[in-house]
Amino acid sequence: MNQFLDDKLHEECGVFGIYGPKLDVATLTYYGLYALQHRGQESAGIAVSDGKLINLHKNMGLVAEVFNEDNLNKLKGYIAIGHVRYSTTGAPSLVNAQPLSFRYLRGMVALAHNGNLTNANDLRYSLGTTGSVFQSTSDTEVMINLIARYGQNPIEEALMKCMIDIKGAYSMLVMTEDKLIGVRDSYGVRPLCLGKLGDSYCLASESCALDTVGATFMRDVEPGEIIVIDANGLKSIKTMAAPHRNLCVFELVYLARPDSVIDGEAVNIARREMGKQLAREKLLDADIVMSVPDSGTAAAVGYAEESGLPYKEGLMKNRYIGRTFIQPSQKMRDIGVRLKLNPIGHVLKDQRVVLVDDSLVRGTTSKKIIQMMRNAGAKEVHLLISSPPIIYPCYYGIDTSARAELIAAQKELEEIKKYIGADTLHYLSLDGMLSATKSARENFCVACFNGDYKIEISKNIEGKYALERGMA
Ligand code: SF4
Repeated sequence: MNQFLDDKLHEECGVFGIYGPKLDVATLTYYGLYALQHRGQESAGIAVSDGKLINLHKNMGLVAEVFNEDNLNKLKGYIAIGHVRYSTTGAPSLVNAQPLSFRYLRGMVALAHNGNLTNANDLRYSLGTTGSVFQSTSDTEVMINLIARYGQNPIEEALMKCMIDIKGAYSMLVMTEDKLIGVRDSYGVRPLCLGKLGDSYCLASESCALDTVGATFMRDVEPGEIIVIDANGLKSIKTMAAPHRNLCVFELVYLARPDSVIDGEAVNIARREMGKQLAREKLLDADIVMSVPDSGTAAAVGYAEESGLPYKEGLMKNRYIGRTFIQPSQKMRDIGVRLKLNPIGHVLKDQRVVLVDDSLVRGTTSKKIIQMMRNAGAKEVHLLISSPPIIYPCYYGIDTSARAELIAAQKELEEIKKYIGADTLHYLSLDGMLSATKSARENFCVACFNGDYKIEISKNIEGKYALERGMA
């Protein structure tokens, strides 16, 4: 989406899987993916196994655009995995849409991956020099080649060997003809949880997808854990004696749906606590508190609760902007933000407003929103951000801009304030953000705020389109 409409970090991908004899697994996966649509809007796919064959349907577009009753009816079987994609490595094209499926020594396998392998280029090079060929440019295909390399081993053992080779952040679903397998990297950067639906099991990126299909949340998959579900029931393989914990804190700040619970953190509560902490750090003399909807809303409500200022809705969001709307021309740029957000004049008139948003990436949208609010009559606009300045890029599955585009990496606070035209600009401190969570601070990745990358970054990592360039 055009950057002046959508100045946010982008979600990575969402995965949903189900092992359900007697269930319509394709349709349940469709509903699971629907609940995870916020994690990726470029492509969607579902693979289903009937015990002998794996069938797959995928295409570019939203879940509702890709699937209909006809193509879902053709996906017959009792195990399914599904994927919604926002590309982090590899261009947004059908060849990179997931799940990917392939045949190897032991039969058929399908794979759906959320995250980013930080040594995909190195692995691709070494696989390429020993004869591997690649059809796509996604790092997921590197994983497929590795599984095939270890094909003399049962799939669980092949995956354990792969986990030694690959570095990075991944929550992954693997399906053979008769098994559903969930894998979470040893740092647990991306979420993955397990649920039960009657006698059947589900795996999902977020618990909101389990709720949607009527499954009961059982637990999060542990960092470094492999969950295997087959006719014998559920088996857990712990690949690390003492796994690290390094959940992406941005899942709590913005990425995950507020009704999800991730690693024991209720996302909505964490966001509200961040808002309360903002009020403790920056209590302002103002008339009303409002949010940039929807992602800033929980933090704005928290700020209002802690400060005693009234919370008001002052910006109306158009919820129906799809990927395919006609992009405004350069001359019509101002229409861009107004397509998405429109100020409510009678709420804003003569008010000193505390405006809460979850993050500030390039600053382009905030600048336009503040101008719009002033035009609508707001007397003062104080922008508070419920996370610290984003200074470093993410290599673990979130599409941050290049460092040159991250406004906080390029400008001082006062310069940013001036650029966006706010009366006040305040970011929540790193300590303040982490104090809003229940877990210990060392359990979170905060690398885009402080540059402390816990998982090794290959020198060969060249960004989202590295694999298109063919080298590796
Ligand atoms: S670098 Fe930032 S966005 Fe990336 S995983 Fe870490 S906290 Fe999340």
